[in-house]
Amino acid sequence: MRKRMIAGNWKMNKTYAEAVTLAQDLSVALKENPADSVDVVVCPPMVDLKGVAGVREFDNAPFEVGAQNVYWEASGAYTGETSCDMLTAVGATYCIIGHSERRGYFGETDEDINKKAKALMAAGIVPISCCGEPLEVREAGTHVEFVVDQIKKDTEGLEITDPSKYVIAYEPIWAIGTGKTATAEDAQEVCGAIRKTLVEIFGQETADGIRVLYGGSAKPENVAGFLDKEDVDGARVGGASLVADSFNAMIQKAAE
Ligand code: PEP
Repeated sequence: MRKRMIAGNWKMNKTYAEAVTLAQDLSVALKENPADSVDVVVCPPMVDLKGVAGVREFDNAPFEVGAQNVYWEASGAYTGETSCDMLTAVGATYCIIGHSERRGYFGETDEDINKKAKALMAAGIVPISCCGEPLEVREAGTHVEFVVDQIKKDTEGLEITDPSKYVIAYEPIWAIGTGKTATAEDAQEVCGAIRKTLVEIFGQETADGIRVLYGGSAKPENVAGFLDKEDVDGARVGGASLVADSFNAMIQKAAE
């Protein structure tokens, strides 16, 4: 039985003080309405990680903290980059990799994503590995093949001993931050194909334990429809995670 997950990606939003306030608001909301059946993760900007992890620790807040990026080398002359150990030292236990904005704006490749996943897993940080097709691929009707190919490349050579410690997020690019959502059926079609691919790669037992999230303009009003689907185990949330009330509303739906 896979535990549902709601993971917020704050992207390049929230200064340090704003991030701490949002984390505190979320902590209060979750203590008023505990959602123990759901894993909650928030992924603030790198410079806010320590502050948000501090709220988590001080308040014993029921959420985990994740980064939005990592570099696979352990240390050295990699200006601007952040290692796994650095993330661990500031309290991050999850890390998003392969977000379409990083693939698109910063040229991140499937090979990079694969190296990042391996480095994170070796360091005990849970990757939330993103995949998803652009609009032209969806319109050409080859979206399933496109995403399956990404999954094969991104997971190449991974050794998954605990499937709850590797998470995939299917995020069709045309639905991210656009207000256009995929239908729940669209999400199931691709998430189901991802699961089948995971069975081929890792075997049934491991594939059954890996969570596959949907992301792309998910919000309190539509999240339940996605969560009802067999192979959708939660949501990756951008815009709606920037306000404690809307993010908490999604968590509460997932806990129902
Ligand atoms: C995202 O950040 O990956 C995302 C899904 O954003 P939004 O929910 O705003 O579409």
